[in-house]
Amino acid sequence: MLLARLVNEALKSSFAGLECCVGIPGTVGGAISMDAGTRHEWIGRAVRDLVVLDPGRGLRRYEGSEIEWGYRHTSLGPSEIVLEATFELESGVKEAIGREMDDRLRRRRQSQPAGKATCGSVFRNPGDRSSGELIESCGLKGFRVGGAQVSEVHSNFIVNVGGASAADVVAVMRHVHDEVLARQGVDLQPEVKLLGFAS
Ligand SMILES: Cc1cc2nc3c(=O)[nH]c(=O)nc-3n(C[C@H](O)[C@H](O)[C@H](O)COP(=O)(O)OP(=O)(O)OC[C@H]3O[C@@H](n4cnc5c(N)ncnc54)[C@H](O)[C@@H]3O)c2cc1C
Repeated sequence: MLLARLVNEALKSSFAGLECCVGIPGTVGGAISMDAGTRHEWIGRAVRDLVVLDPGRGLRRYEGSEIEWGYRHTSLGPSEIVLEATFELESGVKEAIGREMDDRLRRRRQSQPAGKATCGSVFRNPGDRSSGELIESCGLKGFRVGGAQVSEVHSNFIVNVGGASAADVVAVMRHVHDEVLARQGVDLQPEVKLLGFAS
């Protein structure tokens, strides 16, 4: 199921608790495995229980409280596939939930390169610091390799400005990582997963 559909169903039924997931692309399973959300709130907090398949080992049910949830982190094993999730949400007032979701969507559209081809935030925010601000402070806004460019709107996004290959995106990531390490002494860690490239 798409996460957007779950969020929409919650709104239609006047259930609060998934507002932090509004505007995040992908599926519910993907969101649970990454513990998607914002820096301070995430989907795992609303999970009551899960059914996962661990290939070769079979099905397993977890209570939400048995799992460690955190900023883009869960204690689920890398081979565990989320098949089902039950959410515990709070009864709320539909108009208030809708307003909260609209506000979040507006802020997202103002601060992120909406409508552009990106993979979302590239690096995790280190502690209380913002990866976007660190990258910008190194003068890397607009830095480009091939068709991949550090977004002019938010420096923690890489935009495909035309014909970018995965290698272009990774080259931008590596340059950004190395510059921020050299100039700010911060070892940025990717939020995105790299397939086919050494991390
Ligand atoms: C424009 C943009 C904005 C974004 N903004 C945010 C944001 O604000 N907050 C945030 O947290 N994320 C954000 N993201 C990232 C987004 O959350 C992830 O791309 C999405 O959650 C991944 O879900 P997916 O279904 O596309 O999974 P995939 O990209 O297909 O997979 C992602 C990971 O999840 C695993 N996975 C997928 N499905 C399952 C499953 N059923 N069971 C177990 N593991 C699974 C995959 O193996 C992989 O490791 C953004 C992405 C984009 C492009």
